[in-house]
Amino acid sequence: MNPVNPDLHCHSTVSDGLLAPAAVVERAHANGVDLLALTDHDEIGGLDEAAATAAALGLRFVTGVEISVSWGDDHTIHIVGLNIDPRDATLVAGLERVRSGRDARAVLMAEELAKAGIDGAYEGALKYVGNPALISRSHFARYLVERGFAPDVKTVFEHWLARGKPGYVRHAWAELAEAVGWIRGAGGIAVIAHPGRYRLSATERRTLYRAFKDCGGQGIEVVSGAGADADIREFAAIAREFGFLASRASDFHGPGESYADLGRLPALPEGLDPVWSAWED
Ligand code: AMP
Ligand code: MN
Ligand code: MN
Ligand code: MN
Repeated sequence: MNPVNPDLHCHSTVSDGLLAPAAVVERAHANGVDLLALTDHDEIGGLDEAAATAAALGLRFVTGVEISVSWGDDHTIHIVGLNIDPRDATLVAGLERVRSGRDARAVLMAEELAKAGIDGAYEGALKYVGNPALISRSHFARYLVERGFAPDVKTVFEHWLARGKPGYVRHAWAELAEAVGWIRGAGGIAVIAHPGRYRLSATERRTLYRAFKDCGGQGIEVVSGAGADADIREFAAIAREFGFLASRASDFHGPGESYADLGRLPALPEGLDPVWSAWED
């Protein structure tokens, strides 16, 4: 497979995106994307709708998911699974387990926000939830913007929801090896999502790449929505050093709420093995 404009990471209303799966695919197509993966957080419920829309438009589509992983000292790492079999029973059960903790966490988040002077956050966040099984910090962020606690979602995270801030609640997601195992077991490729976004030391980063590789991880997002040019160079070098396949990924959540629109990203640097190189046309 040799796509011109691949985008292998985005979200729909099935997790914390703003557009329904069909609308995400239509927008990708309109933007000239010629290979798309929908990768909702801990959820695969949007894949059938997205695949059907992509087929109708003649857009190549691969199945995907973005799994929340707890790693080290309260770090959350996101692992994207690409070209997975969404009917794989172990993957389905694993994702179900990861999702199941979200509602209780949301209740605790609302309690913490109430202590900090923001009432009604659970009910407020729920107004923005498209899938009751998938309440996320993004939904809280939209409610806090609505209430005027910050001008935009990014600023809400900086002041209220990021680690160390009043509304943050520590949570146990999947283990790294578990998430990679579910993806591999479902025939997919596991990819480290947006590697530039983790607050890790240089040593911790290398420990993460090694641990990921040792448990069967194969890819890294070299070009990512929020990434700067320096990040592209850094993660291209990491891909070469660790023998990772390279991905290109907007992490689009919705118009006006994301760093990059679907497919609106720099090209992968030369000399890398792209994740799609092994896929049939
Ligand atoms: P959760 O899985 O509930 O912890 O929510 C994580 C989601 O919050 C991410 O997938 C992003 O969509 C969003 N998010 C996290 N950090 C930020 C940030 N600094 N700015 C904007 N959105 C963020
Ligand atoms: Mn998200
Ligand atoms: Mn992510
Ligand atoms: Mn994402």
